Amino acid sequence: MALESLGKALNNALKKLARASSVDEALVKEVVRDIQRALIMSDVNVRLVLDLTKKIQKRALEEKPPAGVSKKEHIIKIVYEELTNFLGREAKPIEIKEKPTVLLMVGIQGSGKTTTVAKLARYFQKRGYKVGVVCSDTWRPGAYHQLKQLVEPYGIEVFGDPNEKDAVKLAKEGVEYFKHKGVDIIMIDSAGRHKEEKGLIEEMRQISEAIKPHEVILVIDGTIGQQAYNQALAFKEATPIGSIIVTKLDGSAKGGGALSAVVATGAPIKFIGVGERIDDLEPFDPKRFVSRLLGLGDIQGLLEKFEELSKAQEFKEEDLEKFMRGKFNLKDMYAQLEAMSKMGPLKQILQMIPGLGYSLPDDVVRVSEQRLKKFKVIMDSMTEEELEHPEIINYSRIKRIARGSGTTVKDVKELLEQYNQMKKFFKSMNKRSLNRMMKRFGM
Ligand code: GDP
Repeated sequence: MALESLGKALNNALKKLARASSVDEALVKEVVRDIQRALIMSDVNVRLVLDLTKKIQKRALEEKPPAGVSKKEHIIKIVYEELTNFLGREAKPIEIKEKPTVLLMVGIQGSGKTTTVAKLARYFQKRGYKVGVVCSDTWRPGAYHQLKQLVEPYGIEVFGDPNEKDAVKLAKEGVEYFKHKGVDIIMIDSAGRHKEEKGLIEEMRQISEAIKPHEVILVIDGTIGQQAYNQALAFKEATPIGSIIVTKLDGSAKGGGALSAVVATGAPIKFIGVGERIDDLEPFDPKRFVSRLLGLGDIQGLLEKFEELSKAQEFKEEDLEKFMRGKFNLKDMYAQLEAMSKMGPLKQILQMIPGLGYSLPDDVVRVSEQRLKKFKVIMDSMTEEELEHPEIINYSRIKRIARGSGTTVKDVKELLEQYNQMKKFFKSMNKRSLNRMMKRFGM
């Protein structure tokens, strides 16, 4: 998860508030101090922290909660709102209006630029766009092959020439090449040979002039913390069509500093990098980001992930709702488990559910691929009626199913146990937190 340590510290501060028997001025000040400390630990600029926490404290002490809302809930909402504002409030997506839309990617050495080009190309491809990638990195040997290795398994073509020395010429040729091919999006990976802003911006100017991109995207390494301010500011001043992707926010202790510093320059952050794999890229949406950071979960993110998946396989939103209400049968469970196993660690997905925060029972989520396979074999030996109404499966049916599937009675029981456990878990989770949290945060 992005900014895990900051999230934990903020979550603890809110827990202190939630656990207190009554809310007085001393408690508000203590919670505000905890938030201050958490942000400063994450390398957020001290002056920005003081401005922000002053606002939170003033509102928490002066504003009256609306009818039906407790003081605690109201303060949590204030913290959520102010942090969301602090990170730019609204999501700003990359717009794909023209065909082809040309995106120039720049970034200093080691920022994660090439990886991010691949991630973004894959992101758009998943959404139905035809993408072409141009490698105009004439500086680093192997850059072209690195890019090819990253995207070609997905059928995304890379244009480049490891022997060409003129980056601007390559970029121009690449754009022409993909224009003829009729792609929707052309992404140019620039050289990124520079160690500081000045050279970087000069390179961006040269290539921009030659290919006239619709948007220039600066990739910034999130581990540099508030130092990101200078890079983002120089970039913003150099191009009116610039946006930013902050990488390596997984595990970075300084990620909060990097994000807030970029926001402070007024340059829009469009995506964040949260890992080394090709799918570890998320659109940056301050509301979702903060709710997840605070441990309030992210129901929207969850639905989107499912939506993404449903494009690849017949998977409907109603199914998800049925699942979350604890109303599903074995057939549904199989489809969901299979879907989830394709989406990555179940734990990561469940973490996005409001209220679950960090306290996830491991036994509920530990469904290995092997077990899934076994479950499928067992279910293949069940009748339609049994799949749809698992409650009718008695001992003699269990024995028959085990025999038919070449498994044991224990295996079949295990499947039924898993089913009941999930059903119970989702049902209780729903009651316990889903409605309450959704209402509370207007999600
Ligand atoms: P470039 O020199 O800017 O093109 O950087 P690369 O794309 O080659 O990336 C440098 C290193 O950062 C590689 O080891 C990447 O795997 C790693 N990296 C890039 N983005 C992320 C991210 O979001 N999280 C993590 N943990 N590593 C990343």
